Amino acid sequence: MLDYNHRPGIAERINAAVDAALEAERAETPPRDYLGASRLGHACERALQFEFAGASKDEGQDFSGRSLRIFAIGHELEDLAIRWLRAAALDLVTRKRDGGQFGFSVAGGRIRGHVDGIVAEAPAALGLRTPALWECKTMNAKNWRETVAKGVTVAKPVYAAQIALYQAYMEAMVPGISANPAIFTAINKDTAELHHELVPFDADLAQRMSDRGVRILRATDAGELLPRIGANRDFFECRFCPWTERCWSLPA
Ligand code: SF4
Repeated sequence: MLDYNHRPGIAERINAAVDAALEAERAETPPRDYLGASRLGHACERALQFEFAGASKDEGQDFSGRSLRIFAIGHELEDLAIRWLRAAALDLVTRKRDGGQFGFSVAGGRIRGHVDGIVAEAPAALGLRTPALWECKTMNAKNWRETVAKGVTVAKPVYAAQIALYQAYMEAMVPGISANPAIFTAINKDTAELHHELVPFDADLAQRMSDRGVRILRATDAGELLPRIGANRDFFECRFCPWTERCWSLPA
């Protein structure tokens, strides 16, 4: 009898078909024409500039099918976290009355952010102050443990920058949101453990990130390149950057 499961290459063939479908779906998605506020804490301003300008990534650096699956799983897990927090009696609002996502748009729509949720109310026993921004991330076990040990501000400064900016920019829509600490949830993708942390508003960080956004827009409009973060292409950030070739072939 034929053993179909052990037919050589079946997993590879199916995976390749899945990846091709996901990559084709992604290719159909129009590129962002704004600077994502969730990205403004990225270490390198030049990389943010490339991202905003929609510069083509180096060969082989576009998101693979696997990366796209990782993002999709993260989104699904965030939906689960919403269910779990609501089951714990948190009044977590994730959609506006018209069904749209909460978010903000500044600098003429060129800087935007979408909010995971807002905790409008919570049981008194939890000791939360509301309204509070809710931000949720999924992580592998190593990153999750580091976040638990050091706190999100130290372990994941990009997320801390995102939270500060979102608190600042959402204040006009949700008065009081910046006066209350944000609630940060991290899901351990390997173990299903949950981490929750209160993040007080850091006005200085929000201002620095907002200034950074403006600097990136202005430099891009003026056709100027912002400085590199690294002194050479072996610098840590540069080794993992999707624009390494482009960046290091351009003037400093
Ligand atoms: S290669 Fe390095 S300096 Fe250039 S954009 Fe990427 S991270 Fe920034």
